Amino acid sequence: MINDGMQEMLKSVGEAEKVLIGIGEEFQYDWNALVQDHRYHEIEAEIGENNTYFWITPFLQKMILRQSLQDKWKTAYSKLKKLLEGKDFFIISLCMDDYIYQVGIDEERIVTPCGGFRKMQCDQNCSHVLADISEDSYDAVLRYYRKELSLEMLREPVCANCGAALRFNQLGVTKYAEEGYLGSWNKYTKWLQKTVNTKVCVVELGVGMEYPTIIRFPFEKIVFYNQKAMLYRIHSQLYQVGEEISGRGKGIQMNALKFVCDI
Ligand SMILES: [Zn+2]
Repeated sequence: MINDGMQEMLKSVGEAEKVLIGIGEEFQYDWNALVQDHRYHEIEAEIGENNTYFWITPFLQKMILRQSLQDKWKTAYSKLKKLLEGKDFFIISLCMDDYIYQVGIDEERIVTPCGGFRKMQCDQNCSHVLADISEDSYDAVLRYYRKELSLEMLREPVCANCGAALRFNQLGVTKYAEEGYLGSWNKYTKWLQKTVNTKVCVVELGVGMEYPTIIRFPFEKIVFYNQKAMLYRIHSQLYQVGEEISGRGKGIQMNALKFVCDI
């Protein structure tokens, strides 16, 4: 069902010279495919409280993501891709699941500052250099998943420089390596500079208040200063738009993932 808010947003995107998309918590993948997996439950039970093996879980998450899932995220990201076809756009996403990279949206126009599963890093970020995914570790985890290896045969990958644990480059590690996204961030800020005084449609999809300085506050500022800009804030609860941009901002109360699936 297409509601009024959606019609207006689609029209605004269609007419805009540039489209800026912010994606937040309502798009974060819920790992349901993993949670419902029988073998995953066996593995959880086998590992128990033994933190020597906690590193295995993110590899299993990556395994699930590499499978071609048919679910509402696939639908939503595919619709988003279609919506942006032919547009001059940029997407900033707080999601850490990397799902956005699975549907063929131009990666040069995406920044994910919270990281994900595409690179690894030293837990202590000793050298400020990211590492490629340890395919040996990944393969070993897959073989363990298929019951071809025993748990005791698995070894956590370590930093070649200092010997600390090697972890996926995402928020939550001891010292997050921002090197993983700064290149894309620079492209983003250069792109933003070009939006000044252009007709830009700004869309927030399920962005809450977890990291407001990354998307919400800067987006409001863009719309406040650019008289030709429009903001659409879609969120199941935090959809309100401040008075200072009320004429050029619209809050739509709806779960953003569902909203995009319904386009
Ligand atoms: Zn290190």
